Amino acid sequence: MLNDLYQEVILDHSKRPRNNRELEGASRTAEGYNPLCGDKIKVFINYENGVVKDISFQGSGCAISTASASLMTETLKGKTKEQAEALIDRFHELLTKETKAGPELGKLAVFSGVREFPVRVKCATLCWHTFKAALEGAAEPVSTEKEME
Ligand code: ZN
Repeated sequence: MLNDLYQEVILDHSKRPRNNRELEGASRTAEGYNPLCGDKIKVFINYENGVVKDISFQGSGCAISTASASLMTETLKGKTKEQAEALIDRFHELLTKETKAGPELGKLAVFSGVREFPVRVKCATLCWHTFKAALEGAAEPVSTEKEME
């Protein structure tokens, strides 16, 4: 029952991704790539006075990566840098450790099932790494395989 609900949310967001567009006047952008799956993403942020005023993404990838980016943009809009960074850490924990999703993760809890599929974890976390890079003003594209090169 719960799993069906989770799948429904992921399917919905992968088929009709939210904030899937270029952001005009974005103050920060970053690109990310997951060579294991072929997921590519570009994240746009309008960052002002320590707050993510607006956020969007463009890319091509699997259902998990698209749904994750879609839900990420919904979640991070209006968040401060500190709140966003805390959510990145919590989301990463959710996908890599046996931890329960707290209310702060909201709909992102649907990704807890991805933990069972280690290859898919990178699909789900790619957009978050890319967001972080954009926030920090990184010049180099993000790759999930960087540490292995
Ligand atoms: Zn993928």
